[in-house]
Amino acid sequence: MQVHNKIDNLKTDISNYKSANKKIGFVPTMGALHEGHLSLIKVAKENAEIVVVSVFVNPTQFNDPNDYKKYPRNFSKDTEILKNAGAHIVFMPFEEEIYPGKDTRQFDFGALERVMEGKHRPGHFNGVAQVVSRLFDIVEPDVAVFGEKDFQQLTIIRKMVKDYNYPTKILGAPIVRETDGLAMSSRNQRLTSEQRKNAAFINQILAASKNKTHQLSVEQVENWVTESLNKIDHLKVEYFQIVDQETLQPINNWQENCDKIGCIAVYCGEIRLIDNIKYSL
Ligand code: AMP
Repeated sequence: MQVHNKIDNLKTDISNYKSANKKIGFVPTMGALHEGHLSLIKVAKENAEIVVVSVFVNPTQFNDPNDYKKYPRNFSKDTEILKNAGAHIVFMPFEEEIYPGKDTRQFDFGALERVMEGKHRPGHFNGVAQVVSRLFDIVEPDVAVFGEKDFQQLTIIRKMVKDYNYPTKILGAPIVRETDGLAMSSRNQRLTSEQRKNAAFINQILAASKNKTHQLSVEQVENWVTESLNKIDHLKVEYFQIVDQETLQPINNWQENCDKIGCIAVYCGEIRLIDNIKYSL
C-alpha cells in the first residue's frame, strides 16, 4: 500500500494503474476509521481493481470551529487499518495541497441543500462539494463510494456529478451499526459511557417508528420520535424530518407516491449525531 501526502506523487501512482487499464475505486473519508468506512472499501473493491482512500479532515465543511478542532484524528492507526483492509493507495494530503489558496467556489444544489443538514449547518454542503470535487479532479475515479448514513450528502454528490459531468459512478452503501443499533461514527468515540448508552435509543426509536405509520400521520410520527428522544437524558433532537428519498422534500402523508426516509440529527451532550431510517409502506 502506498501512502501519499502530495498530489504529484499520488497522480503518478494512479496514472501507472490507469495506463495498465485498471479501474480506480475511491473512498473519501475524514479518518478515525471504523467498520462503516471499511464497508465502503469493500464495495469499492468489488467494483474496481485499485482502491484509493483519502483521509482528510476538511476544514471547509465544518460550520462549528469547535467540532473541527475536536474531530478525532489518528493517522497512524488509520494507515494500519487501511493496510489490513487491502486499500492500494492512501491519500493523506497536507491542507495546502487541497487548498493552495482560499476556495471561493460556490455550489448551488437548489432545494436539496435547503433542508435538514443544509438548513442546520450553513455552508456545510458547499464545503463538502469543494473537497469532493477537488478530490475527484485529482484522483479521477471510475467509481466512488459514499455511505447512506449521510443520506443527504450522497444525494448531493450524485447531483454534483450529474451537474458537472463527472465521469464517476457513485455508489451508496448501507449504514453499518454497533450491536445496540447506534450508527457507527467517528464522533461516537467522543461520547461519555453514559451518553454512549443513551445514544443507542436514537436508532431504537427510529426503528420503533416504522410500526407507527398505520396509526399516526407523518407529522405525528415526526413528533413522536422527537418527543420520545427528548425525554432521554443527554439527547436533544435538532430535527427529524420524513422526506422523499429522491427530492429530499418533506412529505405530508404516507399515501404520497415516493420512497420515504426519516432523517435525524440529535445532540448527545455536545456531540452531534445523525442517522436515518427508510419507511416501506
Ligand atoms: P466521514 O469519515 O465521517 O466523512 O465518512 C466518510 C464516508 O463514510 C462517508 O461516505 C460516510 O457516509 C461513510 N460512513 C460513515 N459512517 C458510516 C456508517 N456507519 N455506515 C456506512 N457508511 C458510513
